[in-house]
Amino acid sequence: MINVTSLYGGLDTTGDPLRYGHRRSPDHGSPHPTETQPHEVPRSARERRPVVVWTMSRRCNLHCVHCYSDSADQAYSGELGPEEVRPMLEDLAAFEIPALLLSGGEPLYHPRFFEYAEHAKRLGLRLTLSTNGTLITEEAAERIRATGFSYVGISFDGLGPVNDRFRGKLGAFEQAVAGLRRLKAVGQKVGLRFTLTRRNYEALPDIFALVEQEGIDRVCFYHLVYSGRGSRLAKDDLLPWETRDILDQICAWTVSLQSLDRHVDVLTVDNHVDGVYLYLKLLPSDPARAERARRLLEWNGGGANSSGIGIANIDASGGVHPDQFWQTHTLGSVRERPFSRIWTDSRDPLLAGLRDRLPRLTGRCAECRWKRMCGGSFRVRALQVTGDPWAPDPACYLTDEEIGDGP
Ligand code: SF4
Repeated sequence: MINVTSLYGGLDTTGDPLRYGHRRSPDHGSPHPTETQPHEVPRSARERRPVVVWTMSRRCNLHCVHCYSDSADQAYSGELGPEEVRPMLEDLAAFEIPALLLSGGEPLYHPRFFEYAEHAKRLGLRLTLSTNGTLITEEAAERIRATGFSYVGISFDGLGPVNDRFRGKLGAFEQAVAGLRRLKAVGQKVGLRFTLTRRNYEALPDIFALVEQEGIDRVCFYHLVYSGRGSRLAKDDLLPWETRDILDQICAWTVSLQSLDRHVDVLTVDNHVDGVYLYLKLLPSDPARAERARRLLEWNGGGANSSGIGIANIDASGGVHPDQFWQTHTLGSVRERPFSRIWTDSRDPLLAGLRDRLPRLTGRCAECRWKRMCGGSFRVRALQVTGDPWAPDPACYLTDEEIGDGP
């Protein structure tokens, strides 16, 4: 994740200590209080425990065109049962992961959603939720708040019919907005998730307006990753100039929010080139802030680039992956070994490679002067397009001139 509010806008936000490994300091402190982190901030990237994305079930009430888990409204066999979930959660708590993200499919469609979430919370896990928002009744909103979720992310792909086309259901937009309002009404922190493609990026100003109107606390702009049904959308990924235009719009909006003293955490996800782009954009006007951004991003050789390091995925059947997009590569199963043992076993060559990726990069990424800041961006996209996880990320939008001739 690239935190535009923090790196470009200069304000620290809640997730920064985990993302960039630094503590708040008075000179960079936000006026907005952070929530308590359950575990100490790691001193180095290597000490980091991963945020675990748990795909609770593949089942979903919608049929989104870019779904990474290729979900549908059907029962899937072989998913973890309660006698397997409880020890898994206990292991995650004992391993002191910084957060557990409940995902799907649609997690709220899972009949044991609250049972598992409440158990995880009792174990001391910090919980976040990723949902399509359409199943959040008043009762569900109150129970989500009472369970103690730090944050609930709701996915939108545009306004009204644009969103409904992406989500595969008429009325999905209105239902998700209603769910969002119910969460806000009970005091739950909520965020908006928006996946950028050529089909919807012109809706960006509408999304900005929605965030402001609804008092949304955080917004994550996702770059497209070509896995699950997203692989069919590869042709709809943005052209380099479109991505640059989007980043410019996001930066300008972030600054305008700050000038109005409106605090929204603005993040981009799944393309770490954004960090370099922000750095280059800041450099002429504010070299000190650019330098701070560079230092934060280089923590861990691409500080926000953390598949296999700062993020992990457990799928609905217990398979462990470097993140939720690496479904084709399984490190082990929690049915056979606890997650903590799978994650700390460095014999898997891909996992070892992801944790020491810079010497393995090839092509323009190997030559790039910004590779320590970017980490070679998103390796799974290179794999999906070329079959080689160390090939250049096809979604890099910097010119040869920009990546060459390093300082
Ligand atoms: S060339 Fe590779 S390392 Fe350099 S900015 Fe692009 S994706 Fe990142």
